[in-house]
Amino acid sequence: MIRRLPEGTVNRIAAGEVVERPASAVKELVENSIDASARHIEVTVRDGGKSLIAVVDDGVGMTREDLDLAIQRHATSKLRDDNLVDIRTLGFRGEALPSIGAVSRLSITSRVPDADNAWTITVNGGAVSAPMPAAAPSGTRVEIRDLFFATPARLKFMKGDRSESNQIVDIVRRLAMARPDISFMLREGDSDKPRDRLRVSATQSDLLDAKLQRLSDIMGREFAENALPINAERQGVQLSGYAAVPTLSRANSMQQYLFVNGRPVRDRLLLGAVRGAYMDFLARNRHPMVAIFLEIDPPDVDVNVHPMKAEVRFREAGLIRGLIVGGLKQALSDSGHRTSTSVAAAALGSFQPGTPGLGAGQRPGGGFGATEFQPSQHLASQSSAFQSPFNSPDMATPTAPTATDAPNMEDVARDFPLGAARAQLHETYIISQTNDGMIVTDQHAAHERLVYERMKNSLAESGIARQALLIPEVIELDEAAAEKLLDRATELAELGLVVEGFGAGTVVVRETPALLGDVDVQGLVRDLADEVMSLGEAFGLKERLEEVCGTMACHGSVRAGRRLNVPEMNAILREMEQTPHSGQCNHGRPTYVELRLADIERLFGRR
Ligand code: ADP
Ligand code: MG
Repeated sequence: MIRRLPEGTVNRIAAGEVVERPASAVKELVENSIDASARHIEVTVRDGGKSLIAVVDDGVGMTREDLDLAIQRHATSKLRDDNLVDIRTLGFRGEALPSIGAVSRLSITSRVPDADNAWTITVNGGAVSAPMPAAAPSGTRVEIRDLFFATPARLKFMKGDRSESNQIVDIVRRLAMARPDISFMLREGDSDKPRDRLRVSATQSDLLDAKLQRLSDIMGREFAENALPINAERQGVQLSGYAAVPTLSRANSMQQYLFVNGRPVRDRLLLGAVRGAYMDFLARNRHPMVAIFLEIDPPDVDVNVHPMKAEVRFREAGLIRGLIVGGLKQALSDSGHRTSTSVAAAALGSFQPGTPGLGAGQRPGGGFGATEFQPSQHLASQSSAFQSPFNSPDMATPTAPTATDAPNMEDVARDFPLGAARAQLHETYIISQTNDGMIVTDQHAAHERLVYERMKNSLAESGIARQALLIPEVIELDEAAAEKLLDRATELAELGLVVEGFGAGTVVVRETPALLGDVDVQGLVRDLADEVMSLGEAFGLKERLEEVCGTMACHGSVRAGRRLNVPEMNAILREMEQTPHSGQCNHGRPTYVELRLADIERLFGRR
């Protein structure tokens, strides 16, 4: 016995997909306001959105007839010509309002600018009432009360108010970041103690400034001050945004904001690209802060992947990834030896007058530095390797430019950004004097970076040495994967991995990159095949090679604890100035901190 489900049931089923929790309802309503060309959007929530979500906008509004349709299933004003290929609005499925109405007490009051009055319509657990005249300014007010009261099973899965409302804040922040031209307000709370969780006003200034201003409002001033602009274009795909210098990093990827055509997404491909770009600069468990905006011709991206529209599919995933990795790396290398301003601030904060002997690790209070730069596990486990003797003296000894031997170089060197070396402390730190301050450089971290950059250069210039396997390794993959991998054989060979076909679904590996040493060939090739299948390109090999360079650089660097003379120290400083990325070591720790005279004077109360 097959029967058609009644509309109410259908809507409740749809609600299960579209509105997973209060935050997703907020997302749908705010997206509707944005699509309605609103300039101001105000969100109020109570009890983590469970008892009330209200969204008020000053957008185009709805007529009485529109209101009737808005709450019907698959009714939308947004899909022009029923074209699912060319989507330019945030919504298009026409199912948010009916789904929400099926599981809550929904009321929508709306007025178009030239109408005499507003109209209100209510939906109570799926039961629709006729529109009634109402008094309201033009725009739309949507109220959701008792979300999920009609689906008790879902209600049970709600988290505590705090957790639900944090997710609401996150959603609204993401939407607000993409639209600096709209002001957003998010207020939380029961009438006795209302609390603003977000308040950002629309920026009038020119487009670029507006974007940075908005990011600064939301991600914090520290981000804006330490953000590098990203701008790149490839085959009509536009990449813009800001990325923080690696010394300003986080313990999770929460502060990575990605947008495709103004739509916030959390996409595996995009997150992977960010990780790949920062690979050289950050330890595995540190995450950069970025806000990245992609503008793509709508037909080249599919947003209709998931009812909540948080994921997208790109027609040319490889192109997108390459663009992001390339754009970020470019921005990072343009930044040269810049380190986060917060490093200097943290350093200053730790110079407490009258408390000599206070080590950097024991900084009091929640100072920025204390939490941000705790050495990672990764570093700790490698630190014993620092002690091992290095056996490539040409890499380990800084090449001193002849100028550093000139008698009066000290005065000359002060004009260099990193100044003239004056002393070495604890066989670990180089102290140098600049025209307007002093710089403390961590010799190991700095030199490690220099060696790494040199190794990468020589990789790029003279190619990658291969080593032939004594017994070629035969690997069975599935047929499609093998085929895709073999398509990339030339590229892989350039990176030192020689793969050939060996009958259906089987490949044979004859040579591997010498740099990788005794590598698990099976594992490597399988990983690469997975990657080629899911992303269309094999990035993993290059990343692994770069990681090996990083580890080797670490071993080959001037260890902490080695005494350096003045020309040697100056040579390191001069080379740092010439080397991209020298402001941080391969693990994202800063290589130097700068204290300006003005700051030092302040420490002593002279200012
Ligand atoms: P979708 O956004 O996918 O079209 P919804 O169910 O979210 O579907 O909304 C249905 C329709 O109601 C929209 O297409 C739009 O015409 C109208 N609508 C919803 N919210 C608003 C609003 N805040 N201002 C003006 N019109 C709105
Ligand atoms: Mg919608």
